[in-house]
Amino acid sequence: MCIFCKIIAGEIPSNKVLENEEFLAFNDINPIAPVHILVIPKIHIKSLNEVDNETIVKITEFIKEVAKKAGIFEDGYRVITNIGENGGQEVPHLHFHILGGTKLAWPKLG
Ligand code: AMP
Repeated sequence: MCIFCKIIAGEIPSNKVLENEEFLAFNDINPIAPVHILVIPKIHIKSLNEVDNETIVKITEFIKEVAKKAGIFEDGYRVITNIGENGGQEVPHLHFHILGGTKLAWPKLG
């Protein structure tokens, strides 16, 4: 079982922000911005490469709800999903990073 499936199963604790039947939002353990929340589907999907369109529509709505709850919806925020090795994906369970709470830099990558 992957680490995020263990969080969903309650085997590993997490700092929950919001949840519904299909998705869970929790604080990243190693934040890189004042607000750094991860959003994951409760079923194991490896990455954006494997996700279906219906889930993408629903998770986008959920991400906006999370941003509202975190108080960053109006001022703006960034949503990132890393895919595979070159994308820097460390956990092989689809997740979206929600970053905000400050004016975010746009670093040169690579
Ligand atoms: P990625 O590199 O896109 O796969 O991102 C994985 C993210 O998961 C990193 O930002 C980690 O800090 C975060 N992470 C790993 N384990 C945990 C955990 N147990 N609770 C919360 N965040 C975690």
